[in-house]
Parts: sequence; C-alpha cells; structure tokens
Amino acid sequence: MLDQSKLESYANRMRGHLVLPEDSNYDEVRSIWNGVIDRKPTLIAQCKGTADVISSVNFAREEGLEVSVRGGGHGVAGKSICSGLVIDLSHMNAVRVDSESKRVRVEGGAKLADMDHETQAFGLATTSGMVSVTGVAGLTLGGGIGYLGRSYGLGCDNLMGADVVTADGKVIQASETENSDLLWALRGGGGNFGIVTSFEFKLHEVGPEVMTAQLFYPIEQGKETLQMYRKVMDEAPDQLTINAMIIKTPPAAPFPEKYHGKPALALVGCYTGGIETGRRLMEPLDNFGQPMLKMVQPMPYKLLQSSFDAANPDGGRYYWKSQYLKSIPDDALDTLLDNSVEAPGPFTAIFLEPMGGAINRIGKTETAYPHRDASYNLGICAGWMEQGDDETCIRWTREIHNKMTPYSTGGVYSNYLSHDEEERIKAAFGENFNRLKEIKSKYDPHNFFSKNMNIKPVGTT
Ligand SMILES: Cc1cc2nc3c(=O)[nH]c(=O)nc-3n(C[C@H](O)[C@H](O)[C@H](O)COP(=O)(O)OP(=O)(O)OC[C@H]3O[C@@H](n4cnc5c(N)ncnc54)[C@H](O)[C@@H]3O)c2cc1C
Repeated sequence: MLDQSKLESYANRMRGHLVLPEDSNYDEVRSIWNGVIDRKPTLIAQCKGTADVISSVNFAREEGLEVSVRGGGHGVAGKSICSGLVIDLSHMNAVRVDSESKRVRVEGGAKLADMDHETQAFGLATTSGMVSVTGVAGLTLGGGIGYLGRSYGLGCDNLMGADVVTADGKVIQASETENSDLLWALRGGGGNFGIVTSFEFKLHEVGPEVMTAQLFYPIEQGKETLQMYRKVMDEAPDQLTINAMIIKTPPAAPFPEKYHGKPALALVGCYTGGIETGRRLMEPLDNFGQPMLKMVQPMPYKLLQSSFDAANPDGGRYYWKSQYLKSIPDDALDTLLDNSVEAPGPFTAIFLEPMGGAINRIGKTETAYPHRDASYNLGICAGWMEQGDDETCIRWTREIHNKMTPYSTGGVYSNYLSHDEEERIKAAFGENFNRLKEIKSKYDPHNFFSKNMNIKPVGTT
C-alpha cells in the first residue's frame, strides 16, 4: 500500500501525471506493443522532463518499489512494464538538430519517426531501426540496427553523449571525456546503468531521397531469389543494405489478390550514396525473376523508414527468437524456406539483416555491443492476435530457431530477446559481459534498474 501523503507530495513535485489503477486511462497507458505482456503496475509516472524522472527515481527508491523504464514501449520482452513504478518517458520526445556540427539531441522517449522527421528537414540522419514507431532509447542502448548501419555504424556507434539519471537520483553526463566508461556501456549495454533523458548522436548526410528497392516474390521463387540476394550482398559496398524477409503477403492492394495471405519473399533496402549508382547496383534485383510486386525507385528516406509500420500492429501478440549467423549457405536457406510454409500468425516474419561494413570495422570491445563478426542477424518473429494461438506460435518459433543454430556465431542481439530468454543475456554481451558487470557495480551497485536485459553487479547472482 502506498502512503497517501507521500504519494500526494510526489504528485505535487511532478510536471507530468501519475496514473493509478483506478484512473480511466490506466489500461491504455499500461499497454505496450507486445500484447503477450500484461502487467498491472502500482503506478505509472508520465514524466515531462528530467526533474520528473529524478522525483520518480527518488520516490521508488524511498518506497522500495521496483522500477521499469519505458521509452518507445516496443521492447519485445516487455521489460518496460513492471508491477511497481513505471517511469514512462514517452511524453519526452523533443528533438533538436544542430546542422552545423551535425549533431542531434533527442529526448529519452522519442520514437524513430520523431528523430527522422527533424533530422531529415536538414537532409541529415543517423542510424536507427526499420520501423518508425520504435523508441530511440531502447533501440540505441541495445545496439540499433538499421538501413544506415553498414554505412555509418549502429545507432550506439553514433551515440556521442547522454544525460543519465542514476539510481541515487543524480544527473550525470556521459561522453568521451566525462564518465567515458558509462558512455562505453550505453553503447550496447542496455538500460542497466540509469535512465537516459537525452541522447546526442552524430549525423550524416542522407537523402532526403535515397535509391530504394522493395521487391516481393512468391515463395516458390524463394531459393533462387535468396541465392541472388546473397551474391548481391557478398559484393555490396557499405552504402547498400538490403534485408531479406519471409512474410505473409498483406491482404490488400497493391499486392495481387491471388497471393493474399500466402508466404512471400521480400527484399527491401536502400543505397545511401548517389541515386544513379544505387540504381546500377540494384539492377540484379530489378531484373530478377517474376516478382508479384516491384518498386525499385528513389523514395524519401523517411517513407522507407515507415514502410513496415503496419506489419507490426500495437497490441498484437509477439514472440521472437534471433541469432547472429556466420553465413547463409544453401542448406540454411532451405531450412528457412521449408519451415516458412507452415508459419502461423498473420504478422509472422523471418528476416535476415546484413551486417558488415562500418558495423564490423569496430572492434568487439570498443563498445559494449560485441557482435562485430556476424554476416547476418536472423530474426524469427511470430506475430498473431489470439491468446489461444500462443502455444502453436511460440513452438514454431523455437523449432525453426533451433534448426538454424548450426549456422550461428553463438551471439544474440539483446534487443531481440524475448521475455523467457534470461539465460541468453550473457551471450548478448559476449566478451564485454565482465566489464559491463564492473560498470554496473559502479553506477548501480544495488541493481535498482533490474527490469531490463539485466547485468547484475559484481558479487551478486
Ligand atoms: C516492430 C519492431 C521493429 C523493430 N525493428 C528494429 C530494427 O530495425 N533495428 C533494431 O535494432 N531493433 C529493432 N527492434 C528492436 C528494438 O530495438 C527493441 O525492441 C527496443 O528495446 C525498443 O526500444 P523502445 O524504447 O521502444 O522499448 P521499451 O520497451 O520502451 O524499452 C526497452 C528497454 O530499454 C530500456 N530503456 C528504454 N528507454 C530507456 C531510457 N530512456 N533510459 C534507459 N533505459 C531505457 C529499458 O530497459 C526498457 O526495458 C524492433 C522492435 C519492434 C517491436
């Protein structure tokens, strides 16, 4: 039971709102992207600035409440919602671009769309993810894989500074000259060290139009198309990034009706250099097979960033398993294609994200994100609507994931871990795990921030 007078005094210190179970918007505010996660917090603090975050951290610590931190609410594992106090930053989404120094400051609850919208006004961008409603915070803190990654490194590689509220309610800065160990940890070590109220990123000249490819093939052409894709990516310059996805054909125009709901192979990506060079590099895709739908054309970068938003609706039920792959030989492609035919759930996708380029030129221990030797990141992502289908969808995901482990590096992306994968956290941080434990002990010795891909302080188990 919360002490009413302390709660009142906390509410009075807030510029934002506190949402309690009896409030009419409680269910809306506690819901997150993954509908499998259904937790009922004691209290949700909708913060409007750093002062609110400090008050919330202090209140939770003094009252002994467990704490979770919500950025964009798109964490697959649903760690942003706990049963104690949710510190919700989703109203903190301001973005300020300094076009001269090519830097952007982004508040801790901004979505990728907020950041791209502001930076693209200057023809600038930094690496972010491929679904525009995802949060900048969670994505960056775990790594940040996107179309610009092979050109400019991951989101976390572009992180130059951060304002962080620590477990004792203090605000500290992390940069290459101040608390540089903390900056190192924030570049891939997740939400373990404090609450980031503001991120500073490096920007690059991108677009506003980039050369893009979006091709959709009937699954029967999958093998040859993936072999062609593999060759293109083997020879690709850094600026070319094409993802391969096995999806269900959306049941709507412009997809031909006879394919609606059937498995399809999609190749989607862009070239971040000149349009004409991009067009030439995309010719092998443009001229290949008989796609059911093909768009190989210049497009606003911002539009590309939101092309797959509708494929991942809020409140659907999701279960993901992923692993980094050394390579994708023919038998790996067969395994993916054979199993995709039976894929359950309308929003289920299998995707291959090419790594390499600038991502892999950074040393494994230069940042907390260690996966610098993988060729691809493979995601097996089941998405469905009915609770009654949970078991079938989760079983299918696990089975195909297990069949792909012979091709794995053994590493896994922390941002694609599901709620039941605690035992894989160590593999997510690889050779950096022990250093991260030490930095955790320095900045959060009592593991106040434990609702995340948790790294426990030294001396605790
Ligand atoms: C539809 C979809 C598409 C995706 N596409 C990509 C992609 O293209 N590339 C990619 O790399 N990833 C992608 N992801 C994975 C994504 O990076 C993670 O799900 C990430 O955690 C989302 O961040 P969030 O802020 O929205 O999540 P939240 O659920 O709000 O946060 C996740 C965790 O991050 C931490 N956290 C959040 N905000 C803060 C903060 N301000 N300070 C400190 N810690 C914080 C907390 O530990 C929290 O539990 C995708 C996810 C989804 C659901």
